[in-house]
Amino acid sequence: MYLAPAREKSLLRKHLWIFSGAVSSVDGPAVPGETIDIFSSKNEFLAQAAYSPQSQLVARVWSFDQSEVIDRAFFVNKIRNAYALRRELLTGESFRLVNSESDGLPGLTVDKYADYLVVQLSSTGVDFHKKDILAALIEVVNPKGIFERSDLSVRAREGLAESSGLLYGKIPDGGIEIVENGAKYSVDIKHGQKTGFYFDQRDARTEVAKLAAGRKVLNAFSYTGAFGVACLLNGAAHVTNIDSSAPALEQCAKNMELNGIAPEQYTNEVKDVFDQLRKYRDMNQKFDMIILDPPKFIDSQKALMRGCRAYQDIARLGFKLLNPGGVLVNFSCSGLMTAELFQKITADAAVDAGVNGVIIKRLAQSCDHPTLLSVPESFYLKGLITKIV
Ligand code: SAH
Repeated sequence: MYLAPAREKSLLRKHLWIFSGAVSSVDGPAVPGETIDIFSSKNEFLAQAAYSPQSQLVARVWSFDQSEVIDRAFFVNKIRNAYALRRELLTGESFRLVNSESDGLPGLTVDKYADYLVVQLSSTGVDFHKKDILAALIEVVNPKGIFERSDLSVRAREGLAESSGLLYGKIPDGGIEIVENGAKYSVDIKHGQKTGFYFDQRDARTEVAKLAAGRKVLNAFSYTGAFGVACLLNGAAHVTNIDSSAPALEQCAKNMELNGIAPEQYTNEVKDVFDQLRKYRDMNQKFDMIILDPPKFIDSQKALMRGCRAYQDIARLGFKLLNPGGVLVNFSCSGLMTAELFQKITADAAVDAGVNGVIIKRLAQSCDHPTLLSVPESFYLKGLITKIV
């Protein structure tokens, strides 16, 4: 594949993506997912990449070395490095093992839940090498079971059908139990959201829980209640979990029980957060800590303004519902939302709510979701802990 003149810049900076607009010609009949060489317009070798003819992201780089062979040994090496990094940074047996671009494997996500792995393949490149990736995971990690959760709408953009099911070994019925910061969670890897659990919030849960003692907490967009469990284990007075997903809140109740938390210590509400925050406002109900961890509101430049308004709306309502000295914890997992813009939106929300606050902690995705310097898009999750003054 040949790039158009002056379009080699990002590859020279070791970015891993090649957009279709940067390509001048494709030589030979490459199969989707196959490894192809990328050349500049001056015929200089730039990289080896996985070909994805149907996608805007027409190729993703495997290697900047022309002699490297993209085979099972290549994947063993990458996965071994990824595993070693987690072992160096984390204790415990449950974490994100492979984080796509950040681990040099664009399109591959692997989460480790105790003895089991959940795999997501989101690009033609990793789908093409599925067998080798599977063998590499077995060789490096030796799990009891591997389950695929490639039920991802993004696969359509790559010309791939959705796919999920058992790939290797066995997966026990019911949830898989994991431990995070001393809290236990039961994870439904077959039916849960994404791969079943949001490991990217591990560090945030630690920080937020530290401030929870004695506080009445509202955990909005709670999913299976992980922030709520962490807060209650750290002495929160009460937690209200809100999520629009009934199965998520059923799992939340299981997680509470698993940690010996009594039913009167928490309330689960299957509700829309936007509506429910307004109801609390109208009822004049107040909290001492409010956590807002919504899904991605911005998935394209076009959706930026609308998404910003949604983040600001819930932050404003959150500030309004806090008692004096209360704490707002708000997050954005939209990559297109910069940290600066998020702070500005949070500041605007405070003004609208008629309060002032101090940011006492800045949060980001946990270390098992590292950011590759050359792919700044691999940084996406930011959060602020703001205390009303
Ligand atoms: N804080 C969670 C992860 C949240 S993921 C954790 O630490 O595990 C975002 C959650 O928001 C999902 O569970 C989804 O079901 C829920 N959700 C999305 N839109 C919603 C809405 N409008 N009202 C309530 N919940 C919503």
